[in-house]
Amino acid sequence: MPAEPLLRVRELSKTYFRRRWLATPRPALAALAGVSFTLQRARTLAVIGASGSGKSTLARCLTQFEIPTSGEVLFEGRALSPLRRLDMQLIFQQPAASLNPRFTAAEIVEEPLLIQRRGTGTERRERAASALELTGIARAALGKRAHEFSGGERQRLAIARALVAEPKLLILDESFNGLDASLAAQVAALLSSLQERLGIAYILISHDLTLVAGLAHEIAVMERGAIIEHADAATLMSQPRHPQTCELIAAALALEGPRA
Ligand code: ADP
Ligand code: MG
Repeated sequence: MPAEPLLRVRELSKTYFRRRWLATPRPALAALAGVSFTLQRARTLAVIGASGSGKSTLARCLTQFEIPTSGEVLFEGRALSPLRRLDMQLIFQQPAASLNPRFTAAEIVEEPLLIQRRGTGTERRERAASALELTGIARAALGKRAHEFSGGERQRLAIARALVAEPKLLILDESFNGLDASLAAQVAALLSSLQERLGIAYILISHDLTLVAGLAHEIAVMERGAIIEHADAATLMSQPRHPQTCELIAAALALEGPRA
């Protein structure tokens, strides 16, 4: 019997019903329209698409910040439930900037466990220390405040916070935006090594293919709430089938500039 994939998404849809201001009827907006895919453990799926194509809505429906209108999400073969919220973690855009500068590294990294009332204080502290060490920050830094860390270290703190509950899937929604090239490369290397050591699966979301293509095993392209093309990364890059995919690849190549 084939093993159950980590994540199985079937016909997931989300419609935002717009409020009627002054009785002007507005059409409902299908931000997600019948999205289906599966993801295996320790694999990386890049989800790319223009702004407004539904990528963040997908991320929020998967991580239970939003309730889908219809469809099904199975995680390890079972329906999502609030109890398993920590198994899938979402990192937003500019995660480093969103950390409270006065909180200590320990407070920041432990918080998800505290919210879910997991373990004792000592256990939480120990898990925070291990998560920090996984991202390359010494446990001696647990008492340092966020503003005392460099930009790169704060990025690591945000990742440690997402890792503290040992998630099996990490979703990064435009989290590479605005990082300079060397920092982006460091974060990419960190994600790869964590995947190798811990078997974490990633969904990397971006409007910019350049930021995520290097890490992805497979790539899904979204347009108007639907996945219009989904293939392994090499195939999609060398033989794009959909005009929107060709456009995203062309934009990425233009950004890279002429090759020397
Ligand atoms: P992306 O992340 O690809 O830019 P989003 O998932 O944010 O796309 O948005 C998809 C569509 O849903 C857009 O048209 C957006 O305006 C709309 N949308 C997103 N969130 C909401 C919301 N909370 N209420 C109403 N419309 C929304
Ligand atoms: Mg978005």
